[in-house]
This record gives sequence, C-alpha cells and structure tokens, in this order.
Amino acid sequence: MEQRTQLQRIIDKTHSLVFFGGAGVSTESGIPDFRSVDGLYNQKYPVPPEVILSRTYYEQHPEQFFDFYREKMLFLSAKPNPAHRWLARMEAENRLAGVVTQNIDGLHQAAGSRLVWELHGSVHRNKCRGCGRQFSAQELLQTTGVPLCPDCGGRIKPEVVLYEEPLDEAVIEGALDAIRRADTMIIAGTSLTVYPAAGLIRYFRGENLVLINRDPTPADSKATLCIHDKVGQVLADIKI
Ligand code: ZN
Repeated sequence: MEQRTQLQRIIDKTHSLVFFGGAGVSTESGIPDFRSVDGLYNQKYPVPPEVILSRTYYEQHPEQFFDFYREKMLFLSAKPNPAHRWLARMEAENRLAGVVTQNIDGLHQAAGSRLVWELHGSVHRNKCRGCGRQFSAQELLQTTGVPLCPDCGGRIKPEVVLYEEPLDEAVIEGALDAIRRADTMIIAGTSLTVYPAAGLIRYFRGENLVLINRDPTPADSKATLCIHDKVGQVLADIKI
C-alpha cells in the first residue's frame, strides 16, 4: 500500500495523537537547524554553536552569546507551515493528546495549538534575573550587547534550555502524560539522537508509531510506518 494511504488509515482510526517534533519540523518554515553548521558560522564565531549555547558561555561571554543568539536563534518573521497547521486542526477536533517539541520558535502556538510541551523552552519568554520582568523576543531582538532590564538593571535570560541546563520537570511530566495517553504517535523531523527524544518513545503504549523524517533514524525498525519525506508535505495530504 502506498505510504500516505497507510498514514491516512492510521489517522482515520486515531482518537488521541501525540506528535513529537524536532528541528526538521521548523526547517520548512525557513528556520535552519543550528546543528547543521556550515563554514560561514565558523568563520565568524570562534567556537561551535553547542559551546556558545551553553550555560557556561552565557555566564562567561554574555556579549558573544547574545550576538549569536540574536543573529542565529531569532527568526521572528517565520510563519507556521502545513505541519503546524495540520496539528492545530487535529487539536481543534479534540483528537490531539499533545505536541511535544524540541523547537523553541513558538510556531505551533502561532498556528493555534495550545497543548504544546516545549522541551527546550521558547525564545518568546525572556526573563530578568533581577526582578522577573518578562520581555518579548521582539524586545530582545532590539537590544544590543548584553540586554539589561530597564527597571532593575538585571541581566535578561532567554527561557531557552541551554546546554548544561536541565529540562523543566513539569514540561517533561506533561510530555510523558501526553505520550502515555496517545493511541498514535508521530515522530517527525528529528534524527532521534538528541536527548531526550529516544528515551521518551519508550513511554508510548499506543498502537501505531509513525516516523516522518528525511533520513533514516535508529528507531525506524520499531515503527509501524516510516516515511522518508518532509513532514509538512506529508501531513498536508492527510485528511482530518
Ligand atoms: Zn529587572
């Protein structure tokens, strides 16, 4: 049977979907995966993104951290793509247990989703470490150097989980709860090599595990269905 027909049949029987998405979900909205670093980054920045986006680097080299952050992590004109919109429609039909995402761009919420568990935080929440005042991503983008709170002079920290920082336990619990309640799980746009993706799959007890990713992943053999294609293009063909 053709793969999209197979996926359609799975979705037709699905009452409670959980979607687990990685960077590949956002690349169709024009947001590059910072892990696929090209030579250009290396010419401009002295260390790899994994080092810049660490807690130690944020503390010790805040100016360079924020230069990189504003230039490479904030894509505020990006729009939701068909994958985001399809999931928002599933939620509107009460057929979604939740979206679990490794992305920090807020595009699921922009598409209208509410049941979103952001494992790595969001660029849309930025908090003063002095007084707790919140700032939008737009406000952060307009700053230069190290962004400081106009009220108390404290340093502003994006609520994005940096390397060396733990994930938020309440977010993990919410994600696990959604995964446990789902009858179908779609994992998309992730190679499943980034923590904690691989571990979370173990909590899924439903019938159908679907993988949609451009390249093969280590979990392909566990899946009911694997589609090696772009997730937005695939889901756009699936009727709800
Ligand atoms: Zn403050």
